[in-house]
Amino acid sequence: MRQAILCHIQDHADDVKIDAMGNLLATRRGTGRRRLRVMVAAHMDEVGFMVTGHDTDGLLKFRAVGGVHPTVTPGNRVVVGPKKLPGVIGMTPIHLASGAGFGKVVETSALRIDIGVSTKDQAKRKAPLGTYATFDTKFSALGPTVRGKALDDRGGCAILIDLFTGDPFPFDLLAAFTVQEEVGLRGAQVAGYALEPDVAFVLEGTVCNDVPQEPDEDRTPVTRLGHGPAISVMDRSMIADRRLVAHLIATAKAHGIPHQLKAPGSGGTDAGAIHLSRAGVPSAVVSVPCRYIHSPAAIMSLADFENATRLTREALRSLKPSILESER
Ligand SMILES: [Zn+2]
Repeated sequence: MRQAILCHIQDHADDVKIDAMGNLLATRRGTGRRRLRVMVAAHMDEVGFMVTGHDTDGLLKFRAVGGVHPTVTPGNRVVVGPKKLPGVIGMTPIHLASGAGFGKVVETSALRIDIGVSTKDQAKRKAPLGTYATFDTKFSALGPTVRGKALDDRGGCAILIDLFTGDPFPFDLLAAFTVQEEVGLRGAQVAGYALEPDVAFVLEGTVCNDVPQEPDEDRTPVTRLGHGPAISVMDRSMIADRRLVAHLIATAKAHGIPHQLKAPGSGGTDAGAIHLSRAGVPSAVVSVPCRYIHSPAAIMSLADFENATRLTREALRSLKPSILESER
């Protein structure tokens, strides 16, 4: 991921570095004299698995890295290790599934990855302890949407690449492609400290639980697919800066960009770490809704993706220090 992003941005960067954690930090100098330091972050990592043991029959014990619900793991294809060995997370055939256990969620600790070897030694050689595995899903276009395994947060990374390589902004753009978001906003914590931003925007893929929709159901989904980028007000990791939220909404309205507020309460983003770095950083989050997030295949609307890019670009263009000097 980092190498792919670097290829896209390096010709546009005035400064690039990979920090001690593995974050990719890049600066694009602005055209104006404004001293505002504007950080925009997106995380490169994705949820996946790590090998934690080997059975005598060559099956791999594993643990989830990040939030993967045990219901979405059995029966799925995975790739294991840097050589991308093909594997499958085993499950009981339907023919044998009956009785009290039928339909019950099987804990991840009871599941195994099968890479087609038959002894413990072979399994250890091919996939030693600590080897990573990820879902094996090919990206594809589905009409006005796309399907992919880690649109959270490859979508955000793609938007950040776009912003970084487009026309420069009046201020210095400090891009942070972060690591280890899914295990606790860890990369962002040090990136926020190192970059010392005056203000931060985080680009995310977020929960979209808009289906199934019963006509008489009185329920507020976190976001809805195709209703535009989602602006966060509050999640488990932060309360967004009210002035930035107002600025994002005003920008969307001024440019006729569809947008929605993410229903407050759920999830967390890199902004949770960045807004607490040093003496605090006013922060906001713009997300692209992703149905079936943290599963082998999420669905994202291309219109939402493009509108998230537009919204963020316009909001950055019109960002003024006075917004941050105004009353909360
Ligand atoms: Zn994410």
